[in-house]
Amino acid sequence: MRELFYYQDAYIQQFDATVTRTATDDQGLYVVLDNTAFYPEGGGQPTDVGTLDDVRVRDVQKVGDEIRHYVDAELHGVVRGQLDWAVRFDHMQQHAGQHILTAAFVELFNYQTVSFHLGSGTITIDLATENVTAAELQQAEDRANEIVLENRPIETKWVTAEEAATYPLRKQLKFTEDVRLVIIPDFDYNGCGGTHPRATGEVAMIKILSTERQKKQTRVHFMCGERLRQNMTMRKQVMAKAAQLVSRPESDIAIGIENLIDTNKKLEKQLAAAREQLLDLEIAKLAATNEPIIAATFEQYSMQHLQKIARTLTANHAEKAVALVTTDHTKTQIVLAKGKQSGVAASANDVLKATLAQMNGKGGGNDTFAQGGGDTSLDAATVLAIITKQFH
Ligand SMILES: [Zn+2]
Repeated sequence: MRELFYYQDAYIQQFDATVTRTATDDQGLYVVLDNTAFYPEGGGQPTDVGTLDDVRVRDVQKVGDEIRHYVDAELHGVVRGQLDWAVRFDHMQQHAGQHILTAAFVELFNYQTVSFHLGSGTITIDLATENVTAAELQQAEDRANEIVLENRPIETKWVTAEEAATYPLRKQLKFTEDVRLVIIPDFDYNGCGGTHPRATGEVAMIKILSTERQKKQTRVHFMCGERLRQNMTMRKQVMAKAAQLVSRPESDIAIGIENLIDTNKKLEKQLAAAREQLLDLEIAKLAATNEPIIAATFEQYSMQHLQKIARTLTANHAEKAVALVTTDHTKTQIVLAKGKQSGVAASANDVLKATLAQMNGKGGGNDTFAQGGGDTSLDAATVLAIITKQFH
């Protein structure tokens, strides 16, 4: 194992190797090489990608002792491997950053990391504690970045289980022979099969971004290195846009948003009051008729508004009946009501049901009040005409 190119030197980006086997499994066509710099997914580190000659390597998996390079076309003989170095170096930065941050939490607070995830977004570690304070997060991040700045070497050593026992290892080893230790002197001693940079300085920076409660553990989201810088670019764009929208410097964006929310609440209150006034005027206008039935159409009124108009009119003018129709882009709604002394004999519910039948509608009510809605296949005036033909 230790002869593998990626263990000899994690910085090998290009290599020549010979195809020893070509086969297919349920993940597709793959080739096995006599040696490789492609790191197969494992130990929390994602797969390397790249090319073998001109053929894309989309996934690399270790199956038993075999490293399978999943490729899009067959390959034979000697091939030139080329890693997608941006992807690999990103994994090295994130993975080493994880070692450092994990060790900082142990050194400062004895919070153990129970799992680690490195995907395409934030990197996470799950700490075996229910609560981590903001101050603890800050201290761990500070300590981790101190280790980065000190640019300590990251050493790897192949040892036997007995030799490994002489190191202050972070957790128990999974293997008993051919143990690979990843060591940051006087800070972190760890059994690990991943690829790491030569020194902590190459991690560049470690930033905790958020935490979340995971059952009895705390999940810490963080990022390192180039991935972090790209994330900052995205955040910078968002901040700049937000600052522009609230016309304030970036440091005052929160104040700007709070002011907007306040203003919005006030406006909503004023708008509601204005609507009520408008509705009162509308009701007064509708009431000024000698007809026994007050019939009207509206655009984009809510069902609540129609109900209020109908109830107010029939309460204040018991001799009247009311037929109201409103439409918007998606639906037509109807409210029918009769005052206590209305001379209209037809049942509000019967007339509503007969009308709704012509517009795929649903609704109901009783003899004196009924409401419902349907599609917009008929315009409001036509619907009202259908109603008034029956509502008398
Ligand atoms: Zn590692």
